Amino acid sequence: MNQILRVKGISKSFGTQQVLRPISFEVGEGERICILGPSGCGKSTLLQVVAGLARADAGEIEMRGVTVEGGRRYIPPENRPVNMVFQDYALWPHMTVRQNIEYGMKRRKTERGEMERRLKSLQSLLKLDGLLDRLPAQLSGGQQQRVGIARALATEPKLLLMDEPLSNLDIKLRTDMRGELARMLGELSIATLYVTHDRMEAFTIADRILVLRDGRIDQLGPPEELFDRPASPWVAQLMGYHN
Ligand code: ADP
Ligand code: MG
Repeated sequence: MNQILRVKGISKSFGTQQVLRPISFEVGEGERICILGPSGCGKSTLLQVVAGLARADAGEIEMRGVTVEGGRRYIPPENRPVNMVFQDYALWPHMTVRQNIEYGMKRRKTERGEMERRLKSLQSLLKLDGLLDRLPAQLSGGQQQRVGIARALATEPKLLLMDEPLSNLDIKLRTDMRGELARMLGELSIATLYVTHDRMEAFTIADRILVLRDGRIDQLGPPEELFDRPASPWVAQLMGYHN
């Protein structure tokens, strides 16, 4: 399998606190990896370093064989084949839905005709009919997150980064969107790093689950493997075993 992402020995500290111990893993084309772990274990930091929104202290990141971080080399987010969906949606409040979705495409100098084609297909994929001229404040949380996902997909990233995209939604909507997202990501067959602290979300979406604890990988494997052969008492507990 071709690797879309290689993370090699990435570490990161804030002051004296080491948030990412040297971490290494790879993501194959079209593969969906869920990063599962408790609050504060370094999930968002890891995603931000992959996106290029934060620098690593040491280590190297390769995307499609190109080094985007390592030594003195640093490729900014807009020049990486990635895009990100945030927990709090992070839509531009003064821009309409259409403008939000077009923003990243314009920065990448996408042609008008191509932009329209992508807008149309995202509109139907994410059920945005009738919403394009609204402002984010005129949308529900679920609708805002659909726009956040459309905006990220509009730049046609090879790797989609999602940081707890459903955790601000109420439980019913979260459960509905979880299944919908799993289907959509499968159809698009886009490689995904999906951060969550919700085990069910990870089980629904992941090809492989990466369990992060204190900035270290406890286990990385398919859901059934974590369930059948947890590598540590911590993973066992996460999988719902009680002792
Ligand atoms: P998670 O997403 O798993 O909840 P984070 O990656 O956001 O965890 O944070 C990991 C740790 O790093 C936390 O202790 C957090 O307080 C700390 N941290 C995150 N970002 C910063 C920052 N910009 N400055 C200082 N500390 C930070
Ligand atoms: Mg976080």
